[in-house]
Amino acid sequence: MKLKDTRNDFPILDRLNRGKPIAYLDNAASSQKPNCVIDALSDYYRRFNSNVHRGIYELAEEAESLYTNARKCIADSLSVKQNEIIFVRGATEGLNLIANTLGRSVLKQGDIVILTEMEHHANIVPWQMICEQIGATIKVVPVLPDGSLDLEKLFDYLSIEKVRVLSLCATSNTLGTVNPIKEITKEAHKHGTYVVVDGAQSMPHEKIDLSECGCDFFVFSGHKVFGPMGIGVVFGKASVLDDLPPYQGGGDMIDQVSFEGTTFAPSPQRFEAGTPNVAGAIGLGRAIHYLDQLDMNEVHMHEQNLLKVAQEQLHQIDGFKEYGTTVDKAAVISFTIDSVHPHDLASILDAEGIAIRTGHHCCQPLMKTLGVEATARASFAFYNTTEEAERFANAVKKSVSILS
Ligand code: PMP
Repeated sequence: MKLKDTRNDFPILDRLNRGKPIAYLDNAASSQKPNCVIDALSDYYRRFNSNVHRGIYELAEEAESLYTNARKCIADSLSVKQNEIIFVRGATEGLNLIANTLGRSVLKQGDIVILTEMEHHANIVPWQMICEQIGATIKVVPVLPDGSLDLEKLFDYLSIEKVRVLSLCATSNTLGTVNPIKEITKEAHKHGTYVVVDGAQSMPHEKIDLSECGCDFFVFSGHKVFGPMGIGVVFGKASVLDDLPPYQGGGDMIDQVSFEGTTFAPSPQRFEAGTPNVAGAIGLGRAIHYLDQLDMNEVHMHEQNLLKVAQEQLHQIDGFKEYGTTVDKAAVISFTIDSVHPHDLASILDAEGIAIRTGHHCCQPLMKTLGVEATARASFAFYNTTEEAERFANAVKKSVSILS
């Protein structure tokens, strides 16, 4: 599938925002959905809706088969086994699942979990909660002035004996920094440390091969990879998942239940209590299939070009500051402009049809390091155009002349 032909697959991109053609540059918060995903959802509810697991009628068998195929499609795309793919509500629930299962089974009082300063709250708070219960502590790897991770410090921390888990993002939602996950995982494994990767921001932009990456866990949200809201994935290595306790209890995650005690199903069922989001899983499978038809190198080059087009214009503005300047960063620009409040800027852009996000981006600790309360953030996806990147940069220039 050619990148230039994809724009028409996204009907929402034809709508207006405040009466102007929308330039949707808030893809790091949530991405738009192609027709095939929208159709997969409505098709499921029109033709296949029924509960999965144990249905002895044609309709239920068809729903089950679509659900199973979605898991297979995602597992194949990531080069892992089907029983290593657990459906959850999103990256947040995925990280809570990992903190509560891996955390509870491997952490003891006095142990250490390593996080980084660039983490989203979803990869901070669940670990804080579990560490507090267990009496474990958190060590935080600093971010260097260009937005890259202080790898020297990280590798130092990994050599501390009590470190059991390292949990970090593959790509920062605020800085765009792409962390060298494979290299980091290799180093962590030398010390017997489990590696959890928050892939929420990397999945939409690069081809992920988890068999090559080597991490123990990887999570992502469907809604950021052109799939539905309310569905996401935890990948866990089978050898690790097999030894973990369940997350939530209920139907569908058990082997045998009695009042004397309960035994649990193998993975992934052990971690999927209750009726799953069947339509969401099918829609996500469809989204991953759609992404697999794209040449991700072409996607990368296109997004980098959009970033460059916007950066070139924005850096001409007096008082403009970009946060995260590593050369190979993802197509995300977080910025401030002296004497212009990010919210005011976003309101003016909104009136021009341009959708960006402002605030702390669920990264309050990172904001503290950067010395700001909020930034404005534009984030690109493959369906954005050069014209949109130019419109955005010109509108920022115009806003500055109005606001300052
Ligand atoms: N991690 C990162 C890096 C994110 O950008 C986000 C979403 N902004 C999350 C985790 C949480 O994702 P969700 O809200 O879909 O659970």
